[in-house]
Amino acid sequence: MARALVPEVKVILTGEYGVGKSSLFRRFATNTFTSDNSKRSTLGLDFYAKPFPDYNIKLQLWDTGGMERVASVTSSYYKHSEAALLVFSLDNSDSFHALSQHLLEVVTYAETARIFLCGNKCDLPPQVSDQDVEAFIEETSDCIAGFFKTSCKTGEGVQDMFNAITSNLSIQVKSKHELLQLEEASFQVTQLPEEPPAQDDCLC
Ligand code: GDP
Ligand code: MG
Repeated sequence: MARALVPEVKVILTGEYGVGKSSLFRRFATNTFTSDNSKRSTLGLDFYAKPFPDYNIKLQLWDTGGMERVASVTSSYYKHSEAALLVFSLDNSDSFHALSQHLLEVVTYAETARIFLCGNKCDLPPQVSDQDVEAFIEETSDCIAGFFKTSCKTGEGVQDMFNAITSNLSIQVKSKHELLQLEEASFQVTQLPEEPPAQDDCLC
């Protein structure tokens, strides 16, 4: 019998150091925020899986754990991800300009991942405008499936963003999961009774 497992979908965070990836991860996992710079915001976890009962799937969010500070993120981080959340900081244009590099890494190492864009720190005076973001999305030939503005500090937009991503991913994930859950027997063909050898009833 097929087991009623809740499908878990891997979503990775990517973007420059300091844009708020670990803060998004912390908001996602514990709905808390820390501005403590010395500890940064890392929870010391690789990933955290959270159920979204409305969509009957679990979102498994992965944080880089700060590895982008010392080295480039390894390709194994991207492996098997169904989506990538490309994060920049709205108050830091450098982090916005670095997006194309991160995007390139996603499309290289996670070819089939759906890509979402997140402008974090919307509580701070912006250096990046909506027009800048629109132009970037157009330049990427519409490979961005959604854009969100968030503030991990106030919590604004964070929950809505994860809900929207889950909703966006749920349909394709569910059908894929259902296919994987099908027992082998479902694919077996019924043996037809052997037909008697054809009689040569040609009279000529
Ligand atoms: P990461 O390097 O991308 O993981 O970034 P962190 O999550 O460690 O955040 C870097 C710094 O930005 C920390 O001091 C956070 O407290 C701060 N930070 C993160 N998100 C926000 C936000 O939405 N607003 C403000 N004002 N600060 C934030
Ligand atoms: Mg971090």
